[in-house]
Amino acid sequence: MASRIIPVDTFDLVIFGGTGDLARRKILPSLLRRFRAGQMPPGARIIACARAALDDAGYRDLAARSIAEFGGAEREDADLVAAFLDRLHYIAVDVTGDGGWAELAAIMRPDVVRAFYFSVRPELFGPIAERLHLRDIAEDESRIVVEKPFGRDLASAQGLNASLAAHFEERQIYRIDHYLGKETVQNLMAVRFANMLFEPLWNNHYIDHIQITVAETVGVAGRGNYYDGTGAIRDMVQNHLMQLLCLTAMEPPAQFEADMVRDEKLKVIRALRPVAPEDIVLGQYAAGADPSYRDDVANPESSTESFVALRCTIGTWRWAGVPFYLRTGKRMKARSSEITVVFQQLGHRIFGEDLASHRNVLSIRLQPNDGIDLRVTVKERGPGGMRLVDMPLDLTFADMEADQGEAGVDAYERLIMDVIRGDQTLFMRGDEVEAAWAWTDPIVAICAGHDRIPQFYEQGSNGPDDALMLLHREGRRWREIKG
Ligand code: NAD
Repeated sequence: MASRIIPVDTFDLVIFGGTGDLARRKILPSLLRRFRAGQMPPGARIIACARAALDDAGYRDLAARSIAEFGGAEREDADLVAAFLDRLHYIAVDVTGDGGWAELAAIMRPDVVRAFYFSVRPELFGPIAERLHLRDIAEDESRIVVEKPFGRDLASAQGLNASLAAHFEERQIYRIDHYLGKETVQNLMAVRFANMLFEPLWNNHYIDHIQITVAETVGVAGRGNYYDGTGAIRDMVQNHLMQLLCLTAMEPPAQFEADMVRDEKLKVIRALRPVAPEDIVLGQYAAGADPSYRDDVANPESSTESFVALRCTIGTWRWAGVPFYLRTGKRMKARSSEITVVFQQLGHRIFGEDLASHRNVLSIRLQPNDGIDLRVTVKERGPGGMRLVDMPLDLTFADMEADQGEAGVDAYERLIMDVIRGDQTLFMRGDEVEAAWAWTDPIVAICAGHDRIPQFYEQGSNGPDDALMLLHREGRRWREIKG
């Protein structure tokens, strides 16, 4: 099938922090893939800004090395890479000082989309926004893109929002949570809102509980400094898991339009009940094949969690009485992100079966092998009477994509193109981020209590035992974490 490219207008994408890890690892390789797909119009340019004293040629060398290291199969195509590198420019800018801004202003063109990607520490968001505005580099239609972490609590998020709002309208601000750019996350909305099958069952009459798991096999070595002052709740729950929860639980928006979708997500966050202390389990990975968490962060006394499991509830008509269990951790059994919807058991048995052991389960896998599977109870084949067995109806999207030229668009590719297009649907709005922190702050406060020492867990496991108990005590069990 031919790839389906929605054309975008010619643009100048300015990347502050253009020499940084995120730019080299994600942004440049993503742009190269969009370039290969034919989505970068002939005049589109990428203008990297950072502190290093480089010129265009020096930056193109750096970009070529990044693409060689982090690019996909397209990096093998030397002509393609060379043509892409021609689109790159570099200006040395000190974002907290005066140097470089006049040069940046001079290079910008009228009548093209201007997008400014703040791939820098959050403390620099305000100074950059201010200079873009005061030096008339940003126009009324320009967009700014900001990375996570967007604050570390409600007060700091409000501070960041205020520093951006002083110079930009909300319609110009794109707060990235790359989870929202994942193919399956959008498919979650398609499954819910484009099928007759699920939405009538999507409530407390038919759903027993929902699990959201984001498990990683990596540890925190290399980012210990940042992570040890942050922990899994701030690093993962407030943003990624919260977004997945919102999309799973929200009411259907009247239309698939940015503010309508975000209004519905916001209502979910506001309806989340405070989490009780006994519904929070913290863990920290012990030494195993790899060093312990405490070794990784070089802090032998650390009580920061590398794992958290939570039981939460949403106080709405639809979700009253349905627990949402969230868990995320490092150095776990497998790399796996999944939303699992466990339906209630049937009220009456006619086959003599154990009703508790046969339930419909819908799981939406973000990674690996993104796709959806629905566990359905059927008769076991062969003689021997009516024996029942649960079988998955499995839809792995990678199999579909193999037939479609546009295989595997990465989250960053999609999100950057949405910025150029001016579509904010998959970006977090300021009020949404603040509401998420307002819910998360008390959880962090409970965890900071002196008696909340994380339980050690084995590397390559499902996390600490208490996390299993969180469900066992209610007669439920976590879905197996599979890579
Ligand atoms: P980094 O430290 O590798 O790069 C920082 C960049 O900012 C460099 O290009 C540096 O030159 C530039 N910079 C710093 N101070 C400057 C100044 N005064 N003037 C001009 N330029 C300046 O950081 P990173 O890992 O690329 O992360 C950037 C942002 O993205 C951070 O907010 C980070 O939390 C976020 N983020 C990073 C990743 C990742 O995978 N690296 C993932 C998610 C979010």
